[in-house]
This record gives sequence, structure tokens and C-alpha cells, in this order.
Amino acid sequence: MAQEFIHIIVERQDNPEGNTYTEEFKVPYRKNMNVISVLMEVQKNPVNAKGEKSKPVVWDCNCLEEVCGACTMIINGKPRQACTALIDQIEQPVRLAPLSSFPLIRDLMVDRQVMFDSLKKVKAWIPIDGTYELGPGPRLAEREREWAYELSKCMTCGCCMEACPNFNERSKFMGPAPINQVRLFNVHPTGEMHKEDRLEAIMGPGGITDCGNSQNCLKACPKEIPLTTSLADLNKQTTKHAIKSFFNR
Ligand code: SF4
Repeated sequence: MAQEFIHIIVERQDNPEGNTYTEEFKVPYRKNMNVISVLMEVQKNPVNAKGEKSKPVVWDCNCLEEVCGACTMIINGKPRQACTALIDQIEQPVRLAPLSSFPLIRDLMVDRQVMFDSLKKVKAWIPIDGTYELGPGPRLAEREREWAYELSKCMTCGCCMEACPNFNERSKFMGPAPINQVRLFNVHPTGEMHKEDRLEAIMGPGGITDCGNSQNCLKACPKEIPLTTSLADLNKQTTKHAIKSFFNR
């Protein structure tokens, strides 16, 4: 028999201090729907599976093509993007919950600001003077460009942080994603200018030595970024930097 409804079970919370509860919804089935389009149906007609009028579910999304990371949530127990979670490919009822490692705003929406603050802390950018035409930038050797491109696919989705046992409210650990960006920007011929500042930013509290080497991040990353290789490489870079600084005192 053709499927008539899509059944979802949503973990809800009305505000950061509120109680958690679950609510079930059934929305008419259409082919090729993703979790976002199901949530949009609930938003249009917020009536739960018992037929009671409810509040629209709150979630975050933006690009809808797995580039921005905004729609990351726990889907059937796994952190992933709601835009690429296709209903025809996942088990039902579909269980949706917010990421647990970030402060909750409401329902499925969390605040990932801590990741962006860490990116600022490690200077995850290339400093250029935009006041005049600079011409083409320096070229990166093809060998470096290949692996640097893989690191640049990070969309600050937070899946690696969710999987990391050392990233939580009791720890200051900035997590694998911002640390990985240090490796990316340090290999760039212009970015190299701030190499030492970036290394120092990950040598203090909450930095690379807080990594417990569980390696969960590697499996959790939807972009298959070699996070553990970056962590190992930066361990080497920070050790060399510490020795050099000691002898330069
Ligand atoms: Fe997401 Fe991977 Fe970036 Fe972590 S490293 S934030 S899992 S894309």
C-alpha cells in the first residue's frame, strides 16, 4: 500500500529554561521530501498527530544544500543536516531532537555562536588589505591545495563537536572544527603571516591539549574532513613552536 503519511516525533522545548517534551506529527506523504520540507508542512498546519492545534516547530536552516550547517539536528539518533535527510531514505517514525552540545534556543534550534567565537580566537581568515587592487594572490602548490581544499569544506555544522566527549558545558575545549581551520589558514602563503598567533591561540586553555583523542569527530563529519590528521599535524606544529619560543626567550 502506498505510504499516506510521514510520521515524525519531535523533541520540543518552548524556551531555554522550559521542560522537554515530545510531540508527534503526521504530514501527507509526497515523494522526494526532506526533513525540512516536512517541518515546513507542520509550520503551515501545526496540528499534531492527535488532531490537536499546536505551535509550529522552531528550527534553523539557510542554504538547503549542506553548505551552511544551520539545519544540523539529531535525526534518528545521529547528528546530521535536515536538508540532506531524505524521507525516502530514512526510517520512520523520524525522531528529531536538537544538538545537545550547544545552548538550546527553542525546539530544534540551538546557538552555535561558540564555534564562531573560536574561529575569531584562532584568526580563521586571510588578512588582506582591501583598500586597493592587489592582483592575484600567491599560488599554493598543487599537493597542498588538494588537502587544503578538503579542510575548507567545513560548514561549522557542529556534528564533530556533538560527537566529541570533551566538548561540553563543563569544558573549555574549543573542539575539532576551529582547530582544523588553524591548519588550513597556516598553510596559505598569505595566511602564514599569522601562523604563530594561531598556534598560540590553540596552545592555551581550551586548546589542542584538551583533545582526548577519542577520534569520534572523524566519523561524525559529513564532509569527511580528516580532522584527526589535522589534530596530529597541529600537535607537531605547536610542539615545534613551543620549543622555538623557549630558545628565543
Ligand atoms: Fe561539521 Fe565537519 Fe566542520 Fe565539524 S569539521 S563542523 S563536522 S563540517
